[in-house]
Amino acid sequence: MTAIYPGSFDPVTFGHLDIIRRAAGIFDEVVVAVMVNSEKRYLFSDAERADMMTRACEGIANVKIVYFEGLTVDLVRRYSDAVLIKGVRSASDFDYEAMIAEANRASGGVETVFLFASPEYSRLSSLVVREFASQGADVSNWAPDHVCKILRERFQ
Ligand code: ADP
Repeated sequence: MTAIYPGSFDPVTFGHLDIIRRAAGIFDEVVVAVMVNSEKRYLFSDAERADMMTRACEGIANVKIVYFEGLTVDLVRRYSDAVLIKGVRSASDFDYEAMIAEANRASGGVETVFLFASPEYSRLSSLVVREFASQGADVSNWAPDHVCKILRERFQ
């Protein structure tokens, strides 16, 4: 079975990688879908977000990175045997994701599997990484070295 893991990954953090590694241990294949949304303002371009993710996943054999624009149910439907994967950090993540999961199941017959964030990453978000990096803080506890480097260059 394939697990589709969608997100902005703007940029990828150790929290995302923890979910990807754990999903890779459960499913045959994990497809990380770097979402492209022309209405949304990202810090990093689509290619930058995908490249950072590709490097971060280099050591994990059964992971593939794709871009996707549109509804995630349409991506899941391209696979014969796939579910969505979501990471849950908090009650607010849970409430929001439960609503989306229900809509995806009702409209597309797509199931969502939830993995709880590991405690050390349960307060970590791309937003926190961006905010701290923008003020020159060291974010190496939160994101891989190549991401920290790109953040430093971006905010120089
Ligand atoms: P963020 O919320 O960090 O901006 P994304 O939109 O890229 O991230 O999130 C993609 C998915 O990863 C969502 O399912 C989100 O709940 C999950 N996720 C984000 N950060 C973490 C984390 N620290 N631990 C576990 N899951 C996470």
